[in-house]
Amino acid sequence: MNIHEYQAKEVFRRYGIPTPQGIAAFSVAEAVEAAKRLIHDTDSQVVVVKAQIHAGGRGKAGGVKVVKGADAAKSAAEELLGKVLVTPQTGPEGKKVQRLYVEQGLAIAGEYYLAAAVDRESKRVVIMASSEGGVDIEEVAEKHPEKIHKVFVDPAVGLMPYQIRQLAYGLGLSKKAQRSFHKLLSSLAQLFVEEDCSIAEVNPMIVTADQECIALDAKINFVGNGAFRH
Ligand code: GDP
Ligand code: MG
Repeated sequence: MNIHEYQAKEVFRRYGIPTPQGIAAFSVAEAVEAAKRLIHDTDSQVVVVKAQIHAGGRGKAGGVKVVKGADAAKSAAEELLGKVLVTPQTGPEGKKVQRLYVEQGLAIAGEYYLAAAVDRESKRVVIMASSEGGVDIEEVAEKHPEKIHKVFVDPAVGLMPYQIRQLAYGLGLSKKAQRSFHKLLSSLAQLFVEEDCSIAEVNPMIVTADQECIALDAKINFVGNGAFRH
């Protein structure tokens, strides 16, 4: 089972994973209202209008618009709603945009890749992290596998602090960002198990100018067999 980014971020927030402030919108009018509210609440003109489709790769396909002001947000919403987005993950027929997510814009100091998944071979949860975030991770895996750091979680003890430190070191995070990363990743690991996920991906996880780790994008897939529990 697959859910939209804005729904995945609601789950993230339930587990205390920091995400940008955002509001889902189903019409241009709602998107404008959302932009105005965010501009007011954050005291910043920058908002991001994001197409909600069940596929990644939206950024490169023009499905993520970073804009300034409510008027620009309106134009972005008009352009995106009803549009068929074709990304490497949608197939050639593309996917029609019927929902938007309007978010506060953030100043990005670094973009990283972070994901939890089930590793069939070791029968464990694997946590993957890379400093090559925001881009196509399959390409990184193919060309620079050494840039993807992995730790395997022992189900008896869970994700250990030394494993989180190992990943933080691999990403080259500052002391302050490491503390923030520790919280984010502990929560992600807990979410992964409790919600019966098959994958929980944060691409990108960003580090802001004041060294806070935030989930800028969110993707969760659930294990079908566990659905009755939720
Ligand atoms: P995806 O392409 O479908 O994976 O969509 P993402 O949510 O990952 O967004 C794609 C890209 O848009 C990110 O990697 C960022 O570079 C950019 N982006 C998204 N939100 C913001 C923001 O608040 N500020 C800035 N500057 N860029 C953003
Ligand atoms: Mg992404």
